[in-house]
Amino acid sequence: MLKQTVAFSKDSSNLFFHILTKCNLSCTHCYISKDQHGDNTLDIETIRNWLFLFSNRPALNKGDSNKAGQTNIIFLGGEPTLHPDLYLAVKEAKRLGFKSITIDTNGYLFHNILEKISCDEIDFFSFSLDGATKETNDAIRGEGSYDKVMVGIQKACAKNFSCSMIYTVSDINIHELELMPDLIKTLGIKRFFIQVIGIRGKSSKMEGKLQVSKETWLNIIPKVAETIASHGIMVTFPKVFLDKTESFQCAGNVAENYFVFPNGRVYQCPICEDFPLHSYEIKDNLLITTPKINEKDLFGLTIPEGCVMNKIIQPQNLSYNKKGDPEHQIACCMLKEEIFI
Ligand code: SF4
Ligand code: SF4
Repeated sequence: MLKQTVAFSKDSSNLFFHILTKCNLSCTHCYISKDQHGDNTLDIETIRNWLFLFSNRPALNKGDSNKAGQTNIIFLGGEPTLHPDLYLAVKEAKRLGFKSITIDTNGYLFHNILEKISCDEIDFFSFSLDGATKETNDAIRGEGSYDKVMVGIQKACAKNFSCSMIYTVSDINIHELELMPDLIKTLGIKRFFIQVIGIRGKSSKMEGKLQVSKETWLNIIPKVAETIASHGIMVTFPKVFLDKTESFQCAGNVAENYFVFPNGRVYQCPICEDFPLHSYEIKDNLLITTPKINEKDLFGLTIPEGCVMNKIIQPQNLSYNKKGDPEHQIACCMLKEEIFI
């Protein structure tokens, strides 16, 4: 079994493209905030223009003319399949030569998306499930969503689409993570992503502690990841807690990630998304750098706790010794571990 920490790199970039914020579900932990991200749906012409912008990226051009070939694109919402022209967006991303194309979906697969694109036009459909049982998943994601996502995966796998699954771990559903290997081993998914809940969007307004402790995280996550990987499914999960031998890096300084919203905001850090701290704004199909103060000013700060934004918005995962020093650093939320056979 191979285990590795995925190092940040400027040679590969990720474009998380929210083409709308509308959704048919109303998950309790949804990170979308319409106050910050707007409520519009991008028309296909604008989607094409913005895809071109990031395949070419004139405002950031460093002499590299083939940015698309180094950029993974992930279509998101809201629920991206609610967009009637998603299939045209996928075809355009393919035509522009993006390195990989993924659609993140809640499983409802609107507008017959499986009929409108073929499995060689897209790398992955990524399905969200937040509990191994209907009871737990549907309490978080809504009545009927468990059945819907399971049927969606079966349909997509039957049509030879590569499928992955995303499980967002919180204090509410971590107890069911150990049931996941048995549930998914015969589903046909190729990758399993464990995410940690971020305290943003609706989660920031929920009562009680949502994030799991370091002990719980370290006791459960690597073990479940190994079990799932033993079934031939590649597992990716966030590092979260750095040990003393590991050094902290902020992806905002050493990687290229763009989180694009339909109101034109472009963030480099997902946990800044509840605030008007975006690094760029798209205006007239150009990427414009925003004035200070923005997230970039935070990326340059060095604190003993590691991630600055974590300390500001979700400090409950920090602990200190008697001298007042942090017991561990919190990694950048984009630092991932991978396990596969
Ligand atoms: S499916 Fe995604 S976008 Fe829709 S409510 Fe749930 S978390 Fe939010
Ligand atoms: S999560 Fe923290 S470390 Fe990562 S980009 Fe944001 S501010 Fe930087």
